Amino acid sequence: MDAVGRSSVWTIDRENVITSVGGDWDAFAESNDAASLCGSSVVGRSLFDFISGEETQRIYRLLLRRVRAVDAPVIVPFRCDSPEMRRHMRLEIEPLSERAIEFRGVLVAAEPRPHLRLLARNAPRSKALLVSCSFCLHMRLPDGEWVEAEDAVVRLGLLTLERTPRLAHGICPACKAKLYGRRDDMGKPPATS
Ligand SMILES: [Zn+2]
Repeated sequence: MDAVGRSSVWTIDRENVITSVGGDWDAFAESNDAASLCGSSVVGRSLFDFISGEETQRIYRLLLRRVRAVDAPVIVPFRCDSPEMRRHMRLEIEPLSERAIEFRGVLVAAEPRPHLRLLARNAPRSKALLVSCSFCLHMRLPDGEWVEAEDAVVRLGLLTLERTPRLAHGICPACKAKLYGRRDDMGKPPATS
């Protein structure tokens, strides 16, 4: 469990349909509760069935375009936490022949933490929505600041609540800047020259 270097691999075809999953995928899917980048998958379905949030989907489309256009791998850091474990991951997106793509999620570092109800799949939820960054898992506070989940729990006083907010997926400005390259070219296709 949670050995650094563990990886899961999945591939998609030119239409972004999942064609295989392998490596430690099942172990990851079982131990993961809340992150949107991991989770169980079914071969034959669109990759985008498993990516929550409009903006996250947009970033993925951009990354796939970039990988196919330049025919070179792209590496994206992300978090794939469970309620008891912070997991720092690296997503390697690599072009294959015929516009197929291989994704490899590699565990870079894992640190245990006290159980975080906010990330537990079966926790009772209120109607309140908390936006979580799909890549770094930081949470957006009402004042617009993005903080680690533990800090959000303290700052929002979530421990005293009977129900914890529902999570929605978005992207924080830091990850957005990293993934788009620049803040001001959001949504535009990447330069391929
Ligand atoms: Zn982020």
